Amino acid sequence: MSGWATGSQTSLREANRASILESVKRYGGLTQVELVGSTGLSAATVSTIVKELTSAGLVEVKPTSRSGRRAQLVTVARRVGLAAGVQVGHRHLRVALGDFGSDVVADQTLPLPSEHRLDTTLDRTALLVVDMLERVGATLEELVGIAIGIPAPVDTATGLISVRGVLRGWDDTHVAQVMSKRLGKPVWVDNDANLGALAEATLGAGRGYADVLFVRASHGVGAGIVIGGQLHRGFAGTAGEIGHVQIDPQGAICRCGSRGCLDTVVGAEALLAPLVVSHGPLTLRDVMNRALAGDPGCTRVVADAGEKIGAVLAATCQALNPQVIVVGGELAETGEMLLDPMRRELRRGMLPNLIAPVEIVPAALGQQAEVMGALATVLENTDVADTVDRGTREREGER
Ligand SMILES: [Zn+2]
Repeated sequence: MSGWATGSQTSLREANRASILESVKRYGGLTQVELVGSTGLSAATVSTIVKELTSAGLVEVKPTSRSGRRAQLVTVARRVGLAAGVQVGHRHLRVALGDFGSDVVADQTLPLPSEHRLDTTLDRTALLVVDMLERVGATLEELVGIAIGIPAPVDTATGLISVRGVLRGWDDTHVAQVMSKRLGKPVWVDNDANLGALAEATLGAGRGYADVLFVRASHGVGAGIVIGGQLHRGFAGTAGEIGHVQIDPQGAICRCGSRGCLDTVVGAEALLAPLVVSHGPLTLRDVMNRALAGDPGCTRVVADAGEKIGAVLAATCQALNPQVIVVGGELAETGEMLLDPMRRELRRGMLPNLIAPVEIVPAALGQQAEVMGALATVLENTDVADTVDRGTREREGER
């Protein structure tokens, strides 16, 4: 009988330890009071387990005053290792290194040529990761894994892009396997908007909401869906592909093979084309800068895009009923210029919810959202206790 009781208590304690580690990992650090709230455990249990985890070298406790008064912030210990978060965009590559406290310790962006090749881009990524590790005084051994966000839907079950043609030259390649061979580390690949959604929902403007729609308006438009606090990818990873909702049946043919998708109307090429006659050739960045400086033509292009995206969001919201829409990507840097027409279209196109009308807010993490979501993905999939045990065994083996 006593054996049964002990066994049960041991597994209960292990479950509580796991639950606290999960919360700390997910939010990048919580105070003990917040841990009580997020785990549902008593303050005494949280305090005991945090002490155990601290002496096991799994978490660190440091003073914080972020909620206005002084408290102890619990984070995963730095010695657990570093994660690499990568965003491969249409025209840039971004790599961030982060620790288990969700602190970004290094962050770098490189330009990419348009229609860049998969193998050269992954080579550059691998070199950049190694270079950045060196610069922060870390070794490749300390890297626990890499997550890569790409501007295409990914079937996380197979690791392959689930719609042909969306990212030219990247179809049929298992990006995670290719990258894993280059660095000898575990690699995860996901859609960039999903990673942005993950970061904004846990660390950014969607924090505190259970149902969040994250919209990424950049060279293309995509969305990431968080329902009940969980990322919803759909059966093969195409959930939230709002860029491929048809809005003009007579419109241009899209990369995906369909006609008149939202992307063909508010994607970078479509936004830049009507400005050529009046403004000459511009980049998306130029248009954003000029719009912010008050240029009427560029302002008009941004506002029109907000309206078009808003119409598609109305239909999306009708189906999903999120509490909040968080808007990120380059276009969101123009703030209300984009959000105001988006809000108007949204209100026009959906049932007025009197109890809880959906809010549209700008993203809080800016251009870092996707790499931060990638870092969170590595941390989420890494067993902290196992990593520390392995590190200890290796160090003892060296002696
Ligand atoms: Zn399309």
